[in-house]
Amino acid sequence: MATELGEVLLPPLPQITEETRPFWDSCKEGALKLQRCSDCSEFRFPPSVACPACASMNCSWEPVSGKGTIFSFVTFQRLYHKAFASLLPYVVAVVELEEGPRLLTRLVGLNEADVVKCGAPVRLHLEPLSDDVVLPLFELAGKQG
Ligand SMILES: [Zn+2]
Repeated sequence: MATELGEVLLPPLPQITEETRPFWDSCKEGALKLQRCSDCSEFRFPPSVACPACASMNCSWEPVSGKGTIFSFVTFQRLYHKAFASLLPYVVAVVELEEGPRLLTRLVGLNEADVVKCGAPVRLHLEPLSDDVVLPLFELAGKQG
């Protein structure tokens, strides 16, 4: 369901819960943070109560580099939601961060000369969507601007 903010049509907004709030807050603060297990040191995403690697309940939120590579992607040519009309065509990607976890995200800053391929290096691009939500999107690394 779309949310109207003034005359701007917003895409569906994330449902921020107590468990995911530190993630979204870190995006608003300008430095992406993920949960890190206090016992085995594994980073994890999405947020969870227990570590998927060792089942520990102890964790902290720590900054990650914002660097990664494209694990998989698809280019959307068809409009599925009016809020994305101005973006067509756009690339939805699974980015594997240097720290290990994979995020489902969107690539930005692409032009027709850019070649998107699996394994390509990307870097974090934080994009404000509303007063409460800053999206962790990615752009190809090595590009100027
Ligand atoms: Zn662990």
